[in-house]
Amino acid sequence: MTKKLNKNTDKPICNAPFTSAYYFGLRGNLGFCCSWEDDKQPYYKVNKDGPPEEFWTSQYAQDIRQQMLNGEWPEGCYNCKWHEDRGLESDIDMFRKIPVDVKDFDVVHGNTTHKKPVYLDYRPDNLCNLSCIQCSPGNSTLIEDFGDNETWGIGQDTWRGSLKYIKENKERFHEIEYFVNEHLLHQGLLQIKLLGGEPTINAGVQRTLKHLIDNDYAKDIRLKVTTNFTNLNKTYEMFSHFKEVHITASIDGAGKTYEYVRHPAKWKAVRKNLLTFMEKYLVKPGYSLSLNTCIMTHMAFTLTDWLSELLDLWFCERIRLVGVKGRDNLWGSIMLIPVTELHSSINAIPSKFIDDILYELETLKKTLNRRNKKFVDAMDEVGFKAEDWKYTESPEYTIDKLIKVFQDHKYDEEAHYAWAVMAMAQHNFKNCDITKLDPRFLEMFDMLDEETVFTKNKYKFPGSYKSWKENKEKDPNFKFFPSNK
Ligand code: SF4
Repeated sequence: MTKKLNKNTDKPICNAPFTSAYYFGLRGNLGFCCSWEDDKQPYYKVNKDGPPEEFWTSQYAQDIRQQMLNGEWPEGCYNCKWHEDRGLESDIDMFRKIPVDVKDFDVVHGNTTHKKPVYLDYRPDNLCNLSCIQCSPGNSTLIEDFGDNETWGIGQDTWRGSLKYIKENKERFHEIEYFVNEHLLHQGLLQIKLLGGEPTINAGVQRTLKHLIDNDYAKDIRLKVTTNFTNLNKTYEMFSHFKEVHITASIDGAGKTYEYVRHPAKWKAVRKNLLTFMEKYLVKPGYSLSLNTCIMTHMAFTLTDWLSELLDLWFCERIRLVGVKGRDNLWGSIMLIPVTELHSSINAIPSKFIDDILYELETLKKTLNRRNKKFVDAMDEVGFKAEDWKYTESPEYTIDKLIKVFQDHKYDEEAHYAWAVMAMAQHNFKNCDITKLDPRFLEMFDMLDEETVFTKNKYKFPGSYKSWKENKEKDPNFKFFPSNK
C-alpha cells in the first residue's frame, strides 16, 4: 500500500502512530499512546483483535495512520484535541520531538527505517502500594482488592468488567513479558516509558531494565519512569545505565488533600523523597523531573492550600536544591490532568460552587505568578531571568490551565451521584472521610435526594442500590450519605 499524503501539510496530525507503541499488558490494550480515549475508540485488544505481534501492521493501525495523514482526528484522540482546541499543550508536542523524519513515515510499517516503534510506553501489571481515588483495579492491586472486597458492592458496580478482565490477563504475564522482550525491545529503541502500578517495586520492571542493560541497549535509550515517590529504592541505581533518565512524579495535591487522594501515602515522607531525589539525582547530567497532578472533584475545595504548597515546592525549593549544578535539568513542568472517570470528574461539582473556585484561582494567580518574589529570587540564584522561562513551564500556566479546566465544567448529576457513592465506599473500605477535607463536601451530599438518586440509578449501580434498600427496609431513617440535615 502506498502512503497517501495529507493534502495541506504533508504531516500527520500526530507522529505517535508512526513511531510509538503503548502496551498495557494487564488490560490487553495495545495502541500508540496513553492519551488515547478507549471509551471513544477502543485500543487494539490483544487476542480479540489479533495477536500482539500483528498489531503494528494491522488494519487497525493502518486506518489510524491514514486518518492522521488525511488531517482527520481519530475519535480516540479526543483528549489531545481538547487541549489543542484550547491552545494548551498536548502529548502531540512530545511525539513531534521524536527524531524520525516525517519523510520516513509509512502507513503499513509506521516508519521505513525501523519498521517498529522507537518509543515504547509499557505497563506490565498493576502491582501498587497505593489506592488513589481516581485510579482503577487495572493500575493498582490495592484497588483490585477494594473492588473485590468492598462490602457495599460499589467496587463491583464500578469496575465489574475490568476486574474480570484483569484476572484473566494475570495468567498471561509471562506471555506479555516475552512479547515485549522479543518484539518491542530492540537496537533502534530510543525511549522506553515504564509505569505500573508502581514500577519501582515491580520485579517485572526490574527484569526489563536488566534486559536492556545486559543487551547494551540502555546506553542509547531515554528512560522515563512514572513513580509515586513513596520510596527511593535500589531500582534507582539501575537508571544510571541509561542515556537519559526522566522521572515523572505522580503527586495529586499536597498535605491533607494529597493524603485523602493517594491513600495510604504520607505527604511528609513523599515530599522528603522528592526533595532527596532533587538533591541526589537531579543535579546529575541527563536527569530530569516533572510532576503529574490529576485534577478531580476531591481536590477542588482545597485548591489554595495544596496548589500554593506544590508551586512553592516546584518553583522555589526545586530550583534552590538543584542550583547551578543541575541548571540544565530544570526544564520539567507540572502537568495537570483533568480526570474523566465519572466518580472523580469535576463535573460532579454542582455549578453553584464553580464561581468561588474560579475566584480562588484568580486570587492565587495574583500572588503566585512568575513575578512572585520568591520564585524570581530562586531563578536569580541559578542565573535565570523570569523572561527566560517558558510560559508552559511557569506558575501562571499551571493556574491558567486550572482556570480553563474549571471554566469548562458542566454539571452532571450522574457524576455527582457516582462521586457520592464512591466517596462512601472509600470511607467504608479505607476509613477516609472526605467531609473532613472541606464542609462543602457535606453540602454536596446533602444536595442529593437519596431516594430519587438510588432508584434512578439502580440498574447502573445494582450493588449499592441493594445495600441502600436493605438498610432502608431495616430502618426508614437510615442515611447512606452523611448529612447535616
Ligand atoms: S493525538 Fe494524542 S491521543 Fe492521538 S495518537 Fe497522538 S498522542 Fe495519542
